[in-house]
Amino acid sequence: MSAWRPAELAGLHVEFGLYDSEAFRWVRTPAAVFRCVCGFRRTAEGVRDVALFTASVPDRHRASCRHHTARGAA
Ligand SMILES: [Zn+2]
Repeated sequence: MSAWRPAELAGLHVEFGLYDSEAFRWVRTPAAVFRCVCGFRRTAEGVRDVALFTASVPDRHRASCRHHTARGAA
């Protein structure tokens, strides 16, 4: 996912992958990256890991990051 330029921006970025339904296999596995303006960065790869990651990591980090908990922050 590092070659995917939008993932260099802050936020949650998900690459949904590509599944070949005739071959019953992933041609490109799903991947995700969460990057905060504070420098926090985490990645996940694979169907299960991306699902768990997107459901928990961004919200958990936002709840504790001073860039999101400071007055006036989004
Ligand atoms: Zn942060």
